[in-house]
Amino acid sequence: MTGQIMDGGLLCLLFVGAVIVLFIHLSRERRDRQYRRHCGECRYISGWLTESGADEDAEAHYRAKHHGVEVGGVVEVR
Ligand SMILES: [Zn+2]
Repeated sequence: MTGQIMDGGLLCLLFVGAVIVLFIHLSRERRDRQYRRHCGECRYISGWLTESGADEDAEAHYRAKHHGVEVGGVVEVR
């Protein structure tokens, strides 16, 4: 009987731990994704991405929409 209560407590503890880990992960991801690219050629704006993600997004956008044009525009940081 004591064992059952212990197991329940341990499960509860694991669950709380998992929620905390998830929360930390999500807030860290949000903090990293704070770069947004405004295209220099059109009104395209990327979503909020990491710094390297925003660069990759701009390169892909230029390849698709402004082929042959050097990647420009501005990076917005929130
Ligand atoms: Zn564009």
